[in-house]
Amino acid sequence: MIVTRFAPSPNGPLHLGHAFSALTAHDLAARHGGRFLLRIEDIDGARSRPELADEFRRDLEWLGLEWEEVPAQSTRIADYDRMAHEVLYRALGVLYPCRCTRGEIAAAARETAPDGSPVYPGTCREHPVSGDTSHCAWRIDMARVCAIAGPLVWTDELAGEQQARPDLFGDVVLLRKDAPASYHLAATLDDHTDGITLVTRGMDLFASTHVHRLLQALLGLAVPTWHHHPLLLDEEGRKLAKRRGSPALADLRLAGEDGRVLADRLRAHKLPAGITLSDRLHESP
Ligand code: GLU
Repeated sequence: MIVTRFAPSPNGPLHLGHAFSALTAHDLAARHGGRFLLRIEDIDGARSRPELADEFRRDLEWLGLEWEEVPAQSTRIADYDRMAHEVLYRALGVLYPCRCTRGEIAAAARETAPDGSPVYPGTCREHPVSGDTSHCAWRIDMARVCAIAGPLVWTDELAGEQQARPDLFGDVVLLRKDAPASYHLAATLDDHTDGITLVTRGMDLFASTHVHRLLQALLGLAVPTWHHHPLLLDEEGRKLAKRRGSPALADLRLAGEDGRVLADRLRAHKLPAGITLSDRLHESP
């Protein structure tokens, strides 16, 4: 049975792109008699606005969706910490503390990861932090874990089988200074805990899956299939965003629009003027 999910972060209101993502996941589950889960990804304490989660539920109801809700990420922090420390730090010895600032990394980085972030130049791996590590982020030694895990593959329903290339990301952060865990660690563990068999999300997260597949191998987690769907783009070909003028679902709802009609239009790819659906299936690493 398919178990899939919609996993929004309550950092800002949902817009049409989120509606398309939720509908895609919901309908994939419905078509196969599967389950559709909602998980609130509220791990980023500084940016999370808890009041938005209720608004998200009202938006999904307005679109005519039904779902099962699983515990929000903020209730699972001890699990992230335990897995990172027990398995990656103690058992495998592949995590190290890092004190570098964003500015220092940007100045020293020579490569860019497939998700556009600078590849960590390895400063604190080569010169280990001594003393107090309470204000450190924890990074994974990518060369070592790639050697431990060996070659890995993963499958996207639309793009087909992929060779995992986590090496292109360098030593990513798994436990952040300012949040209990990185997106990579939290999402991967949650998908396992929630019994997700099909990870449905936008193509903008396609490249992250290389890192998620590696974490699954290291932590002994189940390996799902992925469905990275095309994105709704604005007139300039950019991902929709509220800050660039895409209306919030809550605004449309409060203005009296019919959410079920909107949902059916999105399903039929009848998009509002100025919005298109991306045609690339994925960005190659
Ligand atoms: N929470 C992420 C977001 O809102 C989605 C994560 C995922 O689907 O894996 O962009």
